[in-house]
Amino acid sequence: MKQQRGKKLALDLSDPGAIDENTISTAAALLRSGRLHRYGEYGDTEPHAALLEQEFAEYVGSHYAVGINSGGCALFIALKIAGIKHGDKVLVNAFNLAPVPGAIEHAGGVSVLVEINADYLIDLEDLEKKAATSGAKLLLLTHMRGHIADMDAIVALCKRYGITLIEDCAHTMGAKWGDTFTGRFGAVGCFSTQTFKHINSGEGGLLISDDAQLAAQAILYTGSYMLYGQHRSKPSAAVFAKYQGVIPNFSMRMSNLVACLLRPQLREMPARAAVWNRNYRRLEARLNQIPSIAVPERLPQEAFVASSIQFAVAGMDAQQIEHFVTECTARGVAIKWFGRAQPLGYTSLYQHWEYLTPQALPQTTAVLQTTCDMRIPLSLTVDDCDTIAAIITETIESQFQPLRHEFHA
Ligand SMILES: *Cc1c(COP(=O)(O)O)cnc(C)c1O
Repeated sequence: MKQQRGKKLALDLSDPGAIDENTISTAAALLRSGRLHRYGEYGDTEPHAALLEQEFAEYVGSHYAVGINSGGCALFIALKIAGIKHGDKVLVNAFNLAPVPGAIEHAGGVSVLVEINADYLIDLEDLEKKAATSGAKLLLLTHMRGHIADMDAIVALCKRYGITLIEDCAHTMGAKWGDTFTGRFGAVGCFSTQTFKHINSGEGGLLISDDAQLAAQAILYTGSYMLYGQHRSKPSAAVFAKYQGVIPNFSMRMSNLVACLLRPQLREMPARAAVWNRNYRRLEARLNQIPSIAVPERLPQEAFVASSIQFAVAGMDAQQIEHFVTECTARGVAIKWFGRAQPLGYTSLYQHWEYLTPQALPQTTAVLQTTCDMRIPLSLTVDDCDTIAAIITETIESQFQPLRHEFHA
């Protein structure tokens, strides 16, 4: 017998949130001008792309920022300017999303997958082991689902092994380790502005660096022709002269329309972070009251921006988790499960990237087997958080009675 069902969550957890009306007006004015390319004749006005780069560099405190057409291409360009050569190994956390191993492949690299621990962070022991034995001179570290590993330990480890660190901050825009924004710990930091990241332009990416040599190469790779002078956040002409003609144009520029959409959203980041984290703390407290659910503790130095929440479910087999996820989703609580055998939506597993050399990561596989993931849209209220927790609780409670019955039939 089905238990009395409580209410359904009214809100769609996949809601990306509207672009605000002021931004729409600014974008409409830009559309009317037709000046959608970031370079060229601007008369008295200035392209949004150059302004966004300057504003983003100021926001994170980096010397340079470069607009790129996507986060995946930002990672690709980061690997190129870090000096990757065909066949070079790249250490990368195994719990990741498809554009990351994709960027390594795109740049001619070979992914060496590193285990994660139960808190979804790169496993420092496995990283040390693979840094010592693989011969890799690059680490592409994804702050996956916004979880930030001990950056002091990682920076020290990279130094010890002569490894160049690239940070993938697709899930950590606005987040810090200690007092420093993510993306500022390595040679290059990469960000995505795809719809489901912290600021939304559909597609888009940003790359940051303090190194003039790297920034100049990145600008040239994106395809600045001879118009790199139109950047505001840029190294000196002498640095460009060194690379002009040597660095190919890969046509990975950020469009002016994209930058126009992002500038007001960037100013909103602190307010967004406060809403996300308020909801995260509420959900975390409620979910941790359910005996079979554990939300991992965050490291004290982690000033995260939680646009999603992850938790482990205990005491359920694959079929039961599948059932749990389906039931929650039917009530509007769209939970993704990383243990699914076949890829679905964003829940890709390293085993699904069949172009990689097969690698055994038993610890990561075991952790992901019980890992559930839920988006936290900005429109979520504290009441909605309580409704979500109630739905999850009811689903687990109602599920286990009939299932136990079946076992003893
Ligand atoms: C979204 C994402 C990227 C790449 O971003 P795109 O802009 O979609 O190319 C990279 N890494 C992670 C972890 C992501 O989630």
